[in-house]
Amino acid sequence: MGRLDEVAAALAADAEAIGLYRTELLYLTAPDLPTEDEQFEVYRAMLERMGGKAATVRTFDDGGNRPVLPFKNKTEPNPVLGYRGIRMSLGRPSFFRTQLRALLRASAYGSLRVMFPMISHLDELEEVLSALKHIKKELRRERTPFDEKMPIGVNIEVPAAALMSAALAPKVDFLSIGINDLIQFTLAIDRSNPDLAHLYHQYHPAVLHLVRTTVQAAHQNGIPCTLCGEAPGQEAVLPLMLGLGVDGFSTSPNLVLSARRVLNNCSYRECQNLADEVLALNSSAEVEHRLSRAVHRPLQSI
Ligand code: PEP
Ligand code: MG
Repeated sequence: MGRLDEVAAALAADAEAIGLYRTELLYLTAPDLPTEDEQFEVYRAMLERMGGKAATVRTFDDGGNRPVLPFKNKTEPNPVLGYRGIRMSLGRPSFFRTQLRALLRASAYGSLRVMFPMISHLDELEEVLSALKHIKKELRRERTPFDEKMPIGVNIEVPAAALMSAALAPKVDFLSIGINDLIQFTLAIDRSNPDLAHLYHQYHPAVLHLVRTTVQAAHQNGIPCTLCGEAPGQEAVLPLMLGLGVDGFSTSPNLVLSARRVLNNCSYRECQNLADEVLALNSSAEVEHRLSRAVHRPLQSI
């Protein structure tokens, strides 16, 4: 989600948490960049409305098919591969600092988790950690309250990050796979191009192997790995991802209850066997065929 008024829908659907709050939508309607106080008020209101349930907020990921910040070069030849996500935040330290301060201040009002988009280099994460350390020191000095243990995570959306997840995981509290972009960048297929939709496939074995690699890295480091994006809205994906070891799913509010019904009816052991079987397959079509057999049988016996 990306708007405060969507929180009610998540709660009405009995979501356990907000798995992804996209902050770039904050400036979709505003002509100017939101100030620290304006951002703080939104994050605080969201946490208060959640009443103690966790919310994972992602720092700005502007560009591609999203709003374009005033200071960005609007004529980038490949905006989806361009100056966006963490690259832009690190390239604009005062802009990033404003958002981090607002988030940390809001963390005193609920259960806030923060994740960073489009990380592809370990150095980027190191820079984020150092900015956070600096701002925490500043807030302590000002005696501004914040959650000292606010969990932070990496949004795994780029194959490089998935492949390097064993190096990223020890430095954070969680990993969250952004499957929309992970598919896009693994298969080199523009996710918004309708002419290529038939090739944009969550069941491509390369994508599934990257999910497995990421989950294993998280678990070896004792942290959870969740999955967000459009794919968890499709029922057949859930037993497979559960079997691959994914610890939590984020989907749009209207799909929460049906996703929970599917997951509640799964046997974890059977899902693990299904995942092992599927990882040995070589094409999306074979995977899809295997999964269709699984969902056409009673879910308890996939
Ligand atoms: C993703 O890439 O899967 C994701 C959840 O983020 P977005 O759709 O905002 O790119
Ligand atoms: Mg993404």
